[in-house]
Amino acid sequence: MTVRVRFAPSPTGMFHVGGARSALQNWIYAKQQGGVFVLRIEDTDAARNKPEWTEGILSALDWIGISRGSYEGPYFQSANAGEHRAAATRLYESGRAYYCDCTREDVQARTGSQYQGYDGYHRDLGLGPGPGHALRFRTPDEGSTVVVDLIRGEPTFENKLIEDFVIARGDGSPVFLLANVVDDMTMGITHVIRAEEHLPNTPKQQLLWDALGVKPPVWAHVPVVVNEKRQKLSKRRDKVALEAYRDEGYLAGAMRNYLMLLGWAPSGDREIVEWSVIEDEFRLEEVNPSPAFFDEKKLRAFNGEYIRALPVSEFIDACQPWLTGTGTIAPPPWQPEEYDADAFAAVAPLAQTRLAVLSEIVPNVDFLFLASPLIDEAAWTKTMKDGSADLLDAAIAAFEALQSWDAESLKSTLEAVGAERGLKLGKTQAPVRVAVTGRTVGLPLFESLEVLGRERTLTRMRAARLRLV
Ligand code: GLU
Repeated sequence: MTVRVRFAPSPTGMFHVGGARSALQNWIYAKQQGGVFVLRIEDTDAARNKPEWTEGILSALDWIGISRGSYEGPYFQSANAGEHRAAATRLYESGRAYYCDCTREDVQARTGSQYQGYDGYHRDLGLGPGPGHALRFRTPDEGSTVVVDLIRGEPTFENKLIEDFVIARGDGSPVFLLANVVDDMTMGITHVIRAEEHLPNTPKQQLLWDALGVKPPVWAHVPVVVNEKRQKLSKRRDKVALEAYRDEGYLAGAMRNYLMLLGWAPSGDREIVEWSVIEDEFRLEEVNPSPAFFDEKKLRAFNGEYIRALPVSEFIDACQPWLTGTGTIAPPPWQPEEYDADAFAAVAPLAQTRLAVLSEIVPNVDFLFLASPLIDEAAWTKTMKDGSADLLDAAIAAFEALQSWDAESLKSTLEAVGAERGLKLGKTQAPVRVAVTGRTVGLPLFESLEVLGRERTLTRMRAARLRLV
């Protein structure tokens, strides 16, 4: 039997990192089993779906390595509406479902308590289809439903605790629970690997599989992803959109490596590993069922390591979207004609060791491309103290006299200027750095000045000196 898995996102918002994790787990499982990965867009909630969310899912999957054309689909759930209705009809005709026109208030009035679920009132009243008549599944009174779950063992649900749940609304439209089952059935899905949030749906869905006469799939409910307060990651509170990480300059390789560590780890205390190691070693059965902490700090550190491991030429290429502003990435503060690829290539190796995310490249190199630096006023005030004017005067004079404009000579020259004033190099550098780059931190100063060139460096130092008058 060929293993067939599916990833079935609903296009109702930005693509969530938890969804990306489930997609990767499905992807690897299919690959390991020589199976097929199916992508199904569950777009039946017309009020909340938007086509751009679907496009966002496809492009985010592509970015993370699940590329278009390498899977089956995308299928769209809305295209199968006929099948969903046919299944509802079959369940009704075979007596496995019945119509009901009770409102919540009706049930409450009968049971005299808070609404605790449907009381089965219409089970045997023989109500036929009609406007406002919802179709409910006739849940077995006895026995239990055992879910075979690769991660959670065999969670068992007593049938008598499962209410006769709605499978088609009063307007005849089948609900998600049924549509999802019917699609899995028609697409021949053998393994449903999805988030833990769906576990409460699973006994109901399995009852539907049984009632429709098809052997249910094997399930695997992967752990919920939580923030540092152990709260489920939410789009209102946390940064959850995969696209946001991409646009901030996380590398796809770092991101997917990190996502696979949510609830699982490769052998031998390793965390950063080649993707092929993950593809070999990952075992769905080994995924820890407890909530998985999405640690953004750790992800940043991870990403920094991935950045440092790139060959410089790839690092230069990887920075281009932030240097030019493409797609959803904001343009940098300089004009396109001010950008100088050679100057960038000269400082790229210095920048590469310092970035945690690629977007940080912009504040590190903007001084090179802008006609005058963007001065951080707080940094200016903190740095330009008594003595800065005198120091800048001396540094300007010494730099003007330099024969060779190279990092080494610049360093020894400024060091000497500082020494005459009893200052260590760090203190001597600070006003020069702020004058030239506008900031207190950045790339190594003397290499920066070498690349910036004599004229531009001196012009900026003179301008800063004038401000100090
Ligand atoms: N469309 C559902 C969701 O996005 C997925 C359901 C499933 O995987 O079975 O949560």
